[in-house]
Amino acid sequence: MTKCIYCGEIANTKDHVPPKGLIRQINRDNLWKVESCRNCNNGASRDEEYFRLMIVGALCHTEEADELFDGPISRSMEKRPAKEDWLFNSLGQTEGKPYIEWATETLQRVALKIAAGLAHKISVEPPQSNSSFTLEESEGRGEYEMWAPDFSFSYFQGRWELWFFDSVKIVIKPA
Ligand SMILES: [Zn+2]
Repeated sequence: MTKCIYCGEIANTKDHVPPKGLIRQINRDNLWKVESCRNCNNGASRDEEYFRLMIVGALCHTEEADELFDGPISRSMEKRPAKEDWLFNSLGQTEGKPYIEWATETLQRVALKIAAGLAHKISVEPPQSNSSFTLEESEGRGEYEMWAPDFSFSYFQGRWELWFFDSVKIVIKPA
């Protein structure tokens, strides 16, 4: 019996690492796959779409952002108008300037799940659920340039860096 690498229940699907939606179409063919139960696989898709919006926002109207944004994200918005409310509620302004306040816990959930999948593949311990999470501007690439430029990562002694394009770097460290 194969077990879900995230929760230990019976695995009946394969989950892509990193999630397909966070990678442009042209780089999706060789994504890693891990054994996953249906809950862990499908349950995260809404969070992943939110995460993708954050990346697209950080890429700020480049050609890459267009390619990443094109298709599924806008279609899923149409299918589930509730998501527009969710996004709408993240909008605010400070000193006359508009901003989006990203739901850090949601982004963290997605990042930890990606790191757990990567950890399984490179045979190291997955991050603890109480790991610290920071979102940073990035310039450059992680050591493992698996699906560069869209995604790369580094791992060293429990510290993860997930790099999305040249714009977003997520650092996960033991608490
Ligand atoms: Zn599971």
